[in-house]
Amino acid sequence: MRGTVLYGPGDVRFEERQDPKILAPTDAILRLAATCVCGSDLWSYRGIQAVTQPTPMGHEYCGIVEEVGGAVKTVKPGQFVVGSFAASDNTCSHCRAGYQSSCAHREWMTGAQAPRLRVPLADGTLVATPEVPSDDLVPSLLAVSDVFGTGWFAADAANVKTGATVAVVGDGAVGLLAVLSAKQMGAERIIAMSRHTSRQKLAREYGATDIVTERGAAGMARIKELTKGVGADSVLECVGTQESMQQAIGAARPGGFVSYVGVPHGVQLDGAGLFFSHVHLHGGPAPVRSYLPKLIDLVLQRKVDPGKVFDLTLPLSQVAEGYRAMDERRAIKALLRP
Ligand SMILES: [Zn+2]
Ligand SMILES: [Zn+2]
Repeated sequence: MRGTVLYGPGDVRFEERQDPKILAPTDAILRLAATCVCGSDLWSYRGIQAVTQPTPMGHEYCGIVEEVGGAVKTVKPGQFVVGSFAASDNTCSHCRAGYQSSCAHREWMTGAQAPRLRVPLADGTLVATPEVPSDDLVPSLLAVSDVFGTGWFAADAANVKTGATVAVVGDGAVGLLAVLSAKQMGAERIIAMSRHTSRQKLAREYGATDIVTERGAAGMARIKELTKGVGADSVLECVGTQESMQQAIGAARPGGFVSYVGVPHGVQLDGAGLFFSHVHLHGGPAPVRSYLPKLIDLVLQRKVDPGKVFDLTLPLSQVAEGYRAMDERRAIKALLRP
């Protein structure tokens, strides 16, 4: 088969790779219905994270089980499944506590920007839909695999409650789905920080009540102003830079909650600043697995449409254009069809 390999900054190739095969009895092989490019793929695409060797790319996936190892019990060939970007056994004590992305046997998924994929720990990682879903639901089910699950974690980790005032830092796919998640959890006011008209529009569609275009100190001041000087109850940081993190902490009320779900790059927190901010901080790689059943159900019942974040659909063979479009911010998120 042909799959996506990153050789270095800006150098994505779609080239011949070995077909995945069962390596452990707990593995499954999927034929993917769709996959996509992640905002986090751009860190290495832009050279911010070093690429030391040709790396198979992709960690967001859904599709049909083709083959399972001898020890797999809960999924079987022919089923449509969605999995997380972190494979987990779903039985160890971290998994049972709801932190499957810190599973004692965790394996980071990679190589999903390809027609077929090996998923380790299939029983713990994959969740099957009751039947093969209609094709128009595939983008939303794919979104569950990472960006929707991550946006949901952002809202959950920031303790979003009915009636809450929420601020979302970042208007990428995760930020937009954090807005949707906060809305689902009953937030009354959702302030989205965004400078891009098309993204502001989707943020409003997903439930944002206010848009703040300012950044940094001016952005924090604007949120304070919108909240009568108090600050937001919950701030969802969906970027991972020093500026976005400071902005998030600065926008929260004393005693408020800040979640952070963007992979931090160069973020350093000042102990005294954090001390006097009086905020709860909770973040990390989203335990998407714990949310899969609920989010798959919301999608299948057509209560939410997280697939709208895919504003570019390409054949998988044009994956390099998907990276370019996201890098140049011409696209929010690129969906790839094998
Ligand atoms: Zn991702
Ligand atoms: Zn585990």
